[in-house]
Amino acid sequence: MKETSSLFEMVRSRFDAAADVLRLPRDLREVMTHMKRQLIVSLPVRMDDGSIRVFDGYRVQHNIARGPAKGGIRYHPNVTLDQMKALASLMTWKCAATNIPYGGGKGGVVCDPATMSQAELERLTRRYASEILLMIGPDRDIAAPDVNTDSQTMAWIMDTYSMTVGHSMLGVVTGKPVALGGSRGREEATARGCWYAIREACKVKNIHVKDARVAIQGFGSVGTTTAWLLHEDGAKIIALSDSGGGVVNLKGLDLEAALAHKQMTGRLSGLPGADAISNEELLELKCDILVPAAIESQITAENASRVRTSIVAEAANAAVTPGADEALSRKDCFVVPDILCNAGGVIVSYFEWVQDLQGLFWSEAEVNNQLEKIMIRSFKEIYEVAQKRKLAMRLAAYVQAVGRVSDATNVRGLFP
Ligand code: GLU
Repeated sequence: MKETSSLFEMVRSRFDAAADVLRLPRDLREVMTHMKRQLIVSLPVRMDDGSIRVFDGYRVQHNIARGPAKGGIRYHPNVTLDQMKALASLMTWKCAATNIPYGGGKGGVVCDPATMSQAELERLTRRYASEILLMIGPDRDIAAPDVNTDSQTMAWIMDTYSMTVGHSMLGVVTGKPVALGGSRGREEATARGCWYAIREACKVKNIHVKDARVAIQGFGSVGTTTAWLLHEDGAKIIALSDSGGGVVNLKGLDLEAALAHKQMTGRLSGLPGADAISNEELLELKCDILVPAAIESQITAENASRVRTSIVAEAANAAVTPGADEALSRKDCFVVPDILCNAGGVIVSYFEWVQDLQGLFWSEAEVNNQLEKIMIRSFKEIYEVAQKRKLAMRLAAYVQAVGRVSDATNVRGLFP
C-alpha cells in the first residue's frame, strides 16, 4: 500500500492510533485535530537588484489548550500549508509529551535562503514578522528557529515586534542571541536532548555507547553536535552526510577533519580518508544507532526493510513515516520518536522564555542539568507507557501527549 504524501495525514494517523488506545470520544478527536488558527500572508520584498518579489508565508497554531502556541519558523522552497499544519501539531504533541506548558505552532516562508543575500533575508524576515504580528506574542505564540533560520533571524523578529509595540519584548521569540536575552545552551539543546535520549535507548537495548557504531544523516547544527557528543562518549561515527551526499569509514571517521573539511569546502564529500556514499545508502548501513537529522520522510515503507540498525533516533521532525514505523518494529528496531528525541530544542526554548519573563538568567550548567532531567524523566515515562500497554515508543509518546491535551481540554470545558 502506498503511503500518503501528506505530512499532516501522517501525523493525523498517529494521533488516531493514540486516540484509539485512549478510547477518546469522537467529538474530542474533532476538537483536537483541527487547527486553532491559520494565517497565510504575502510578503513583498525589495531585492538587492531593485526588483520586488512576493513570497508566501504562513503561521499556524494547532492547539493552545495547555498554554501559548510554540514552534519554529522555517525558510524552505518546500514549505506548504499542509506541512505547517503537520509541524504545528507535532509541536503540540512534543510539548505535551515532555510536559512543558505550551501548545503547538509553526511558521514558514516559501523561499530559498541559499540564493538570497543577508540584507534580503533581513527585509523578508522583518516583513514576515510584521505580517504575523497579530498572532504572535509572549503570552500568545512564541516563535523559534527551525530549518534555515537561526538566532539572527530571531533577533530581527524580536526587534520588529518590539519596535511596533513600542517597548523591548524579549519573550516573543526564543533561540535569540545570548546578547539579546537568549539562553545559554539553546544552540546545542536539540542535539544535547537527542544525546540524552540515545543514552537511555542504549540502556534499553543493552548497547554500550562507547562501542556503538553511529550513522548520522544531516550535518547541520543538530547532526554535528550529536556526532560530537557521541564521539566524546567513545562511539564510532562511521557515516555522515549533508544535502550534497555522504562519507563513510567503517573504522570511524575523523570528526575534527570532517568539520574542518566542511568548513573549508562547504560540503562533506571529498573528505580524505573516507569513501563516498549517498544519503539513501547511509540509511541502510549496518550500525547500532542511526540518526536521521536532516528533513522529513527519509525512512519510509519503501526503504525501512533495508535499514540495519538497533536504534533509530529521529532527530529531524517526521523523518520516519508511519509505514516505516511498522516495518521497523517488526525488525525489533527501537525508534526514539521525534516528539521525544528532538524535544531538547523546545525544552530549552521554554527555559529561555522563563528567563526572559523573570529577567533572571541561568548558567549553562543549570540549563543542561534541567534539560537532562526533563529528557530522562520524559523518556522513562514514555517507556513505562510502552511497557505497560505493549506499544512502540512512538505510540506510547502519542498516548502520553494526547492524554495530557485531552485532560486539559476536558477540564477547561467548552466556551461559551
Ligand atoms: N523548531 C524546533 C522544533 O521543531 C524548536 C521549536 C521551539 O524551540 O519552539 O522543535
